[in-house]
Amino acid sequence: MNTNTNGRFGDFGGCYIPEILMGEIVRLEAEYERYKNDADFQKELTTLLNEYAGRPSLLYFAEKMSKDLGGAKVYLKREDLNHTGSHKINNVLGQALLAKKMGKTRVIAETGAGQHGVATATAAALLGLECEVFMGKEDMERQLLNVYRMKLLGTTVHAVTSGSMVLKDAVNETMREWANRMEDTHYVLGSVMGPHPFPMMVRDFQAIISKEARQQILEKEGKLPSVVIACVGGGSNAIGTFYNFIPDASVQLIGCEAAGRGVDTAETAATVATGRLGVFHGMKSLFCQDSDGQIAPVYSISAGLDYPGIGPEHAFLHDSGRAKYVPVTDEEAVQAFEYLAKTEGIICAIESAHAIAHAIKLAGQLSPEESIIVCISGRGDKDVAAIARYRGEDLHE
Ligand SMILES: *Cc1c(COP(=O)(O)O)cnc(C)c1O
Repeated sequence: MNTNTNGRFGDFGGCYIPEILMGEIVRLEAEYERYKNDADFQKELTTLLNEYAGRPSLLYFAEKMSKDLGGAKVYLKREDLNHTGSHKINNVLGQALLAKKMGKTRVIAETGAGQHGVATATAAALLGLECEVFMGKEDMERQLLNVYRMKLLGTTVHAVTSGSMVLKDAVNETMREWANRMEDTHYVLGSVMGPHPFPMMVRDFQAIISKEARQQILEKEGKLPSVVIACVGGGSNAIGTFYNFIPDASVQLIGCEAAGRGVDTAETAATVATGRLGVFHGMKSLFCQDSDGQIAPVYSISAGLDYPGIGPEHAFLHDSGRAKYVPVTDEEAVQAFEYLAKTEGIICAIESAHAIAHAIKLAGQLSPEESIIVCISGRGDKDVAAIARYRGEDLHE
């Protein structure tokens, strides 16, 4: 199976950046290769993950849900229990520690809904790094609580007013800021996207999810799961959940994309279902585009899945047939969100509910001797008001 050579995943990936950033990117790749194999770095990172973020995360047997669905045993990988409430802390602690080792004193990051911004602000506070976050003005107005969280953590949040003032514009602005000031600054990119080495590096930091889950399921079941399911925005929690199962040919890998109001409508963010090959944000991959090849506006009830592209390794896993990608609508995700709350007492992120929705469809078709692992990428406190609104109730937040 092709892995990354020069940042390529089959036809996808690569490094499409302004000339001015080339030296810095090359240096980042070299430093990452060095620290990746450095026992002291790995030990320090493991201590942060275990003592600060709360790893290993639980692999929870959802017994009630499994009985109710009447098929495979459903296990939930509980990334929602990490500090700051999602898988994002795994990547952010890795990159912030690397930045420090590289002698950087400042980190910058893009954020959409604010989850990656909050995680980066958290790691920066802990490690004593200056932090500035770029966020679309539109998104800032929708996510006031996360903007204030970042302020509390000592981070400056900049409103991005270019383009549609959303996540893709924040990525552009952060890239621009990095090109302006590289000497003391590292760009903590939030998913398995962007130019090489980010898709590889972020994947390596998130692979802890499947490293633990594979071991945990073997301890509990004595055999591998039949299916592993995760939601896909840029794809970091999904690649982290898949990675150590990729060589296990018997394990089916399924990524759940946000279909929004449906893949046959303009209000969707399902990249594999509706996107085409393109180059954007430093990588060659699949992107939602209009008929002129411009990046199309995307929509999902879930702000974390509201990205017009998919990481290059996912495009490759799709192309090679090793993983399958399925669209899940807002309505299906909301129903799954409510189902998991009532059945298991777990209020998951609306992003993660996309993965739960597919598990609900699939479990009954499998036998009770089989198991499914679903990644709960985050907790759902942030989504309660939006779900209420979807159901016609206003919580006056
Ligand atoms: C950001 C986020 C996602 C989407 O990002 P990926 O890189 O696709 O994982 C999914 N779930 C939660 C809880 C998030 O915060």
